Amino acid sequence: MAYRTPNMTDSYLDFANSAIGARLADTLGLPKPLKLERYKAGQPVIKGSVLVGGGTDARLLEVLASFFHAIGAQTVAHPQLPQWTPIANKAGLMTGRWGSEGKAGEKVKALVFDATGLTDSTQSDALYQFFHDAARSVLPCGRVVILGRPPEGCASPRQATIQRALEGLSRSLAKELKKAIGVQLVYVAEGAEDQLESTLRFLLSPRSAYVSAQVIRVGKPVGAGGAPADWAAPLAGKKVLVTGASRGIGASIAEVMARDGASVICLDVPQAQEGLDAVAAKIGGRAMALDIGSPEAPQTLVDAALADGGWDVIVHNAGITRDKTIANMKEHLWQMVVNVNLSTQERINEALVESGALKDGGRIVCVSSISGIAGNMGQTNYALSKAGVVGMVQSNAPVFAKQGITINAVAPGFIETAMTAAIPFAIREAGRRMNSMSQGGLPVDVAEAIGWFASPASAGITGNVVRVCGQSIMGA
Ligand code: NAD
Repeated sequence: MAYRTPNMTDSYLDFANSAIGARLADTLGLPKPLKLERYKAGQPVIKGSVLVGGGTDARLLEVLASFFHAIGAQTVAHPQLPQWTPIANKAGLMTGRWGSEGKAGEKVKALVFDATGLTDSTQSDALYQFFHDAARSVLPCGRVVILGRPPEGCASPRQATIQRALEGLSRSLAKELKKAIGVQLVYVAEGAEDQLESTLRFLLSPRSAYVSAQVIRVGKPVGAGGAPADWAAPLAGKKVLVTGASRGIGASIAEVMARDGASVICLDVPQAQEGLDAVAAKIGGRAMALDIGSPEAPQTLVDAALADGGWDVIVHNAGITRDKTIANMKEHLWQMVVNVNLSTQERINEALVESGALKDGGRIVCVSSISGIAGNMGQTNYALSKAGVVGMVQSNAPVFAKQGITINAVAPGFIETAMTAAIPFAIREAGRRMNSMSQGGLPVDVAEAIGWFASPASAGITGNVVRVCGQSIMGA
């Protein structure tokens, strides 16, 4: 099949955004999904100003000020955080005070709250004050980022308790704010403050259009890495292997990697050669026809990578479904799914890491699924494999860190692809709307999250599983 950009359109989304459709949706109380803003090459990280707040003893204000200066953002300070103005001015940022005498200030594109200094639940009032004041002031497709300390690294049970409590706040805000506003909680380990930039750039920009209610952990850097010379091309000079690249999400991942400067090796099964060649030609990459499920695949990949001087990133996107209830499932369909989606990926990772074919500073990015998190009728084999991907990421993160390699996964929700277009209408509509954005995501939304994990600037991110699901109610 020749490569084409998937045309899996959500016609209700277009209708609800038309004048008549919007009126009808209001009258009938139907969902009104907003068209999500998506990243276009060359645009700034954030268009619009950022309202900054913080609790007692906020620790990241200097880091935030230099970050906002670097991206050329305008900030305003919540009245509770008067110390922001001198810190911002010192970093070369123009800033003002937001609101006055209990009145809200200007509408903003993002809220950033530094909760790293909270050590006791009695200090949570600062969160109430900030979000109570600002909740109605975030523009559509805006962003909210709450910064905290990982509970597991906290010095006291009380500190761990209030830091853990931030999860409930961020997930509820994600449901309340609506208007396609993404809300995330980022736990920054002590001493990892300088690793935050790639994550803030991703979360505050339209690259994270379909990501919401996620908890991300940023730690000390693993292996070689660091800020790219050009943030518009963070993968310049990097060699990236993308499996399952002939169509769907994989084709989009290959395109985003190439857009970000990488030289891309596009892999798919020999039967998909035509589509594979078309994707590779479109992005100036190379095609590699290989069944990753075959016993010789790990060694073939090691040989190819070594002949190429080593690879920097491997994206395990290839995946299959063979749905049946377990009582009706044939054994070979169980084995095929577990092998392609999980076991072969374990073998490939081990072979690439042990041989040094994946370089120091290397990145392994896997694709799980919300089916693996929530479970799904008729998908015991698939859900086992995708939950296994989560296990593979979490258990290998400390092991691969010794070789300077990170491993993370995205877990997509409902993504508009050929796979989801084939689902019967009623089930497809339910899958599309049962999330805080009332719509499915696009392959590019998954690809952008993978680009963030793959960046050399993401050395502080390993062992994370981030859902790209618009806060799907499945498995939430
Ligand atoms: P897709 O079927 O359109 O693409 C998968 C690609 O992987 C195909 O090109 C296929 O030929 C290739 N592939 C399969 N087995 C292979 C093998 N043994 N060796 C090499 N290549 C192989 O699927 P998609 O919707 O683009 O999904 C991509 C990934 O995202 C999969 O891992 C899938 O499980 C996951 N995912 C998709 C969704 C969704 O809504 N579409 C949701 C959650 C997770």
